Amino acid sequence: MTTQSSCEHIEAITAVKKPKRHECEECIKTGDSWVHLRTCQTCGATLCCDSSPNRHASRHAQASGHPVIASAEPGERWLYCYPDEAFADY
Ligand SMILES: [Zn+2]
Ligand SMILES: [Zn+2]
Ligand SMILES: [Zn+2]
Repeated sequence: MTTQSSCEHIEAITAVKKPKRHECEECIKTGDSWVHLRTCQTCGATLCCDSSPNRHASRHAQASGHPVIASAEPGERWLYCYPDEAFADY
């Protein structure tokens, strides 16, 4: 993953929210599976990535307007802003 220019949403984040649990909050309710996990930097919800069947993180961002997610995968330290399509390492 290459680092691209940040955006004001990402720059506003001073403390990156970490996942409370390593599971998708929505998939766990229905027994679905996921591929990777992302943590919403506005509300702290941990949801599944776009490679997962349900794409809960993207759907959450669209429905809630929460712009920035962080990877919740061990060893990955990056942020992504949906409206600006911006990445940043942290
Ligand atoms: Zn942004
Ligand atoms: Zn999910
Ligand atoms: Zn959220």
